[in-house]
Amino acid sequence: MMFRFAIVPLLLALNFSMCKKHETVSQSSQPAGGSSPTPNAATAGVAPVATPKIKKPVVDQTAQVIIFCYHRLVDKIRFPGTEITPAAFEAQMKALKDRGITVIPMQDLLAWKRGEKNIPPRCAVVTFDDGWKSQYEVAFPIMKKYGYPFTMFIYTEGVRGGALGGGEAITWEQLADMRDNGIDIEAHSATHQDLREGHNIMLVSAGKRTKTKLNGPQYEQWMQNEVVGSKQLLEQRLGIKVNCFAVPFGSYNEHVKEIARGAGYEAMFTVYGQPITFTSPLDSIGRYAIEANKPKVFEDALKMIGTSSGGAAAVAEVGAKDLSTQPADGETVRTALPLIKANLTGVGQIEPGSVQMRVSGLGVVPANYDPKTGTVSYQVTQKLREKSCTVIVSAKSEGKKVEAHWTFGIEEGATGGAAAPKPVATPKR
Ligand SMILES: [Zn+2]
Repeated sequence: MMFRFAIVPLLLALNFSMCKKHETVSQSSQPAGGSSPTPNAATAGVAPVATPKIKKPVVDQTAQVIIFCYHRLVDKIRFPGTEITPAAFEAQMKALKDRGITVIPMQDLLAWKRGEKNIPPRCAVVTFDDGWKSQYEVAFPIMKKYGYPFTMFIYTEGVRGGALGGGEAITWEQLADMRDNGIDIEAHSATHQDLREGHNIMLVSAGKRTKTKLNGPQYEQWMQNEVVGSKQLLEQRLGIKVNCFAVPFGSYNEHVKEIARGAGYEAMFTVYGQPITFTSPLDSIGRYAIEANKPKVFEDALKMIGTSSGGAAAVAEVGAKDLSTQPADGETVRTALPLIKANLTGVGQIEPGSVQMRVSGLGVVPANYDPKTGTVSYQVTQKLREKSCTVIVSAKSEGKKVEAHWTFGIEEGATGGAAAPKPVATPKR
């Protein structure tokens, strides 16, 4: 990675300010893969349970996320394909708040996809591409004002001082300041070009630009620097962990994905906006590019998750363990008249009238739901006759149905005594 090509992108959609070439010097004081500066969000509020196992919080699989991609913020739009005015940008950030869409950190989106962290039902992730200084000077204060997290996708030669980092480019110092403020910084290649083999590539060496096509080993070597080298440089220069890759122009193929996966990227991003669901593949996550010349894109994106029935019809299955159920899933109780309980606080805002409990052999039971504690409970009054009992608790949370199933056993010969587990003195035959 000491050896770097300097390359100029095709002047397709973006207006790059080309500038002097400057060999970047990477600080090697920290190994790659240092700890992430992003605030490590605490796990959702799940009741502590005395088991050594790591508890996964309840994950709402019907939640949806829209991801926005912004470029430059300027007062006077000259390139409506990549610019937006600060006023329009701020109005959009306000609209997210007004419409009840929660802006979450990118790392929360990924943790949700891993099943590790719950997110609100309707979320947005805000990203900025390419590393413009207006993102630091204009967008950053607006995001701070709203308390929104965001992600920067940086192509390393486009940082000030890099071969493509002109006067409008963000600096490493500004990136470091963002990092110190918990902003997520991720990779967007080294030189921002179409990464697919066989496409024209602009190489800049000693200030000279050469348009060429790279194939075979030469292409692979170039790709290493674009995909792996850019990640390492960001990680070393900023002492961060990079796990996201935004593909330049959203142009990729299987080979590009493969290299990115091999480089340790957890997620890859394109610019084909779509609501992200729990099952959306992580190697082609669509983002809505919001630009001055397409004011409708933002509105359409909001509508997509505002009215989407894609997830609304589905039932989110939540793990019984996350509900601290009593009896626990798989437990065997010694009474045929158990107290059945579940804690729904981790599920989200529950509509009190919507909570329902079904017990195998009994059907829907008149369970009590206490909105204060989030606990649904039912004292079985009619002896359970089977060796095992399945409980289904369902509820509506912000318009979506969530459901948990679990099964416990009943010791053979259990009596209808007290609900407290008690050894049965003389098991009947
Ligand atoms: Zn870009």
